[in-house]
Amino acid sequence: MFHRSVEEHAAHVRALIAPALPTGVDTVALGAALGRVTAAAIHSPVDLPLFRNSQMDGFAVVAADLATVLVTGAPVTLPIVGEVAAQPGTPPPLVSGTAVRIMTGAVLPEGADAVVPVEDTTATTDTVTITRARARGEYVRDRGSDLRAGDPLLPAGLRLASRHLAALAAAGIEEIEVRRRVRIVVISTGAELAPTWRKAGPGEIYDSNGTALTAAATACGAEVTFAMHPVEDAVSQFRGSLLVGATHADLILTSGGISMGAYEVVREFWRANGGEVGHIAMQPGGPQATGVFNGVPVISFPGNPVSTQLSFEVFVAPILREAAGLPPARREVRTLVADLRSAAGTRQFLRGRALPDGRVEVVGGPSSHLVAGLAASDLLLDIGENVTELKAGDPVETIDL
Ligand code: AMP
Ligand code: MG
Repeated sequence: MFHRSVEEHAAHVRALIAPALPTGVDTVALGAALGRVTAAAIHSPVDLPLFRNSQMDGFAVVAADLATVLVTGAPVTLPIVGEVAAQPGTPPPLVSGTAVRIMTGAVLPEGADAVVPVEDTTATTDTVTITRARARGEYVRDRGSDLRAGDPLLPAGLRLASRHLAALAAAGIEEIEVRRRVRIVVISTGAELAPTWRKAGPGEIYDSNGTALTAAATACGAEVTFAMHPVEDAVSQFRGSLLVGATHADLILTSGGISMGAYEVVREFWRANGGEVGHIAMQPGGPQATGVFNGVPVISFPGNPVSTQLSFEVFVAPILREAAGLPPARREVRTLVADLRSAAGTRQFLRGRALPDGRVEVVGGPSSHLVAGLAASDLLLDIGENVTELKAGDPVETIDL
């Protein structure tokens, strides 16, 4: 039975999980790439823009033909010899002394070197009178002016958001290589657990930890293969769940069955199978256990829903976020609204809420079964081991949920 600080157990969990994190690569279509992390730097196969085109609706011209406007201020009138829309094809070259009606995004005809916006012209069907001169290159989007073929488009290790996918699509990239996600199996233990798809009978409660851990792991960029719960609190059933889970996971998360009562199957199992069971100087989430089953690391959390969720947040979420290229949870120092007390020698994670003025208040009670209290909070107050009381107005460190 170990006794550890939060930091010591966090280091132990990290050492257990780190070697199991997948190093492989998945090839995915762009449509399935949102939130995935690039496995390698991606270079553009093409120039962007793909071709020289107009930035405005107006007239493609030879800038030199507008010299008079520039020098004397007198308008210039040119014959309109055609029209180019944003559509497939290559327009004929533009001859000096003429103009072509052009739309935004349309291919600039060979020979043209500027676009006069429609606002600076008056036109009949055959002629256009230009009242404001434009220099060479104005309102022209040159081929490759955004990016050249072969230039780096996205770096390795980047978590893909819509803007990154847009850049890939613009470059005509259909499939990319992304890091494999951490595959997780979630096991909820407890003979009292009922699934939400049927009514809980007498003495039964709904399994909320399975849902909580599945969602939390997914939010950290992992892939939850499946969640399950053995129907009895029997060591053989827990073992069976691990056996199935280990073939589908890089990491297994379990909840329940590690405290001091009877029917603590997870605790019994780890005692007999090389796991470690102990206590962390932390509240909630004091009891913790870990082990390895068939080569797969298993992190066993206590069953109380708040304990489970906070344990995940403190010990596992940072590792998964890092693996998925996500930033760590935001920590901030805020001001307390009211006095609070905390047990000596225990790091406390209180549930809290930020007020509109930025100060922070504690939400709900300290008991670790208060699942609605946790749902009503949007941050945790991290109260150090040696702090026994804080006063209204004192600074307190918070972690965003
Ligand atoms: P245990 O750690 O198994 O002794 O469970 C501690 C408390 O958490 C008990 O009240 C259990 O009923 C409750 N509990 C355990 N597992 C879950 C779960 N998956 N969902 C909701 N509550 C649970
Ligand atoms: Mg139990």
